[in-house]
Amino acid sequence: MIYIIVSFFNYYFLSPAMVSLDTQKKQKIFHELARLQQRDFCFSSGHILGSMCTVPHPVAREAYMQFLETNLGDPELCPGTKEIESRYIAFISNLLHAPKTSAGQIVSGGTEGNITAMWVAKQLSGKKEIVLPTSAHFSFQKIASLMDMKLIEVPMTNEYVMDLAKLKKKIRRTTAAVVGLAGSTELGTIDPIPELSEICTDEHLFLHVDAAFGGFVIPFLKELQYKIPDFDFRLKGVCSVSIDSHKMGYAAIPLGTLMVRKKQWLRNISVDSPYISSEKQAGMLGTRSGAPVAAGYAVAQYLGYEGYKQMVQSCMNVTHHTEGRIRELGLSLVMKPTMNVIGVKLKKPSIVVKKLSEQGWRVNKIERLSCIRLVLMPQITKQIIDEFIPVLQKTCQEVGEL
Ligand code: PLP
Repeated sequence: MIYIIVSFFNYYFLSPAMVSLDTQKKQKIFHELARLQQRDFCFSSGHILGSMCTVPHPVAREAYMQFLETNLGDPELCPGTKEIESRYIAFISNLLHAPKTSAGQIVSGGTEGNITAMWVAKQLSGKKEIVLPTSAHFSFQKIASLMDMKLIEVPMTNEYVMDLAKLKKKIRRTTAAVVGLAGSTELGTIDPIPELSEICTDEHLFLHVDAAFGGFVIPFLKELQYKIPDFDFRLKGVCSVSIDSHKMGYAAIPLGTLMVRKKQWLRNISVDSPYISSEKQAGMLGTRSGAPVAAGYAVAQYLGYEGYKQMVQSCMNVTHHTEGRIRELGLSLVMKPTMNVIGVKLKKPSIVVKKLSEQGWRVNKIERLSCIRLVLMPQITKQIIDEFIPVLQKTCQEVGEL
């Protein structure tokens, strides 16, 4: 009898399907959430001009919500979502011309992609030095601290890419990996990856390509006849590539992929995983949502290669428009943009950034290069740039930049 009463109670009062919401309480919470959210800058406003992230594509948004309760950390609980993950990795693998021997690890973004790549390189070589350009993302500082590795920086050329002559002097018996950038965070520049590939092949070194930003840009720029050398697994010295879908992949945060040339390398960093459905688990995370993966897959299916190509073309059109408008003001660029990232030279970038922010526009400052960075993501249109330019002009006049 007691059992029946308890079951009845659980069914009606505790079963999640039967959770009855206290509408008033809920309204109060959501009112508070909306009030706080109003303080945020949002990508859809078009006023965030300095970030490498974007408004998720509408298809990504819908798929994300549908897969909210999945856990890819326990894959046999969700074989369907696991299949979506495999298909998404196959899509990325194709995009990057990865060989059949390769494998992919879904990650939360560029930071985790770089950490995982350096974990693989350290495990393979037993060494601890990472040779990388001074322009490398700050995630490598975390890597050094987390994995007790040492960063050996290689200066840049006048074109803001890794100086190969200087690189050769930095390679030693203790080198675990060399890192090349395919779309730098600061200016979107691309290191000479074909040459790096040759050097690393000759020296038997692990070459990681950080294509967190450029991975979804360069393949399409090449299709659009931009003269850009290979950067991916078509080069035999490339051992791993990280690519972020929550940047130019038009997906939802957090989603990136690390591709490695040999499946075995991911097995090397996997551990036994008792208590869950798989026997081994590779990668940093345990529990992880399938929602961003489903979102990334949905948008890749929706856009296809042709859709991404059009998107990149449109971002480049807006980039050229922005470049022209900035030059018209009498400001100069750090360099001719390689992709949809522009560095505008300024004497006092921090002051300009602060003043623009007060007027509702967000751009990023790069003190090291004395510039501000604009990233022309898919949601930024020529009209938005035309609204922004007079604000930039007035601000620059006020602070004595013009
Ligand atoms: N690598 C590059 C080249 C980047 O531009 C970034 C971020 O902008 C990262 C890595 C880190 O990516 P995330 O912030 O997604 O971890």
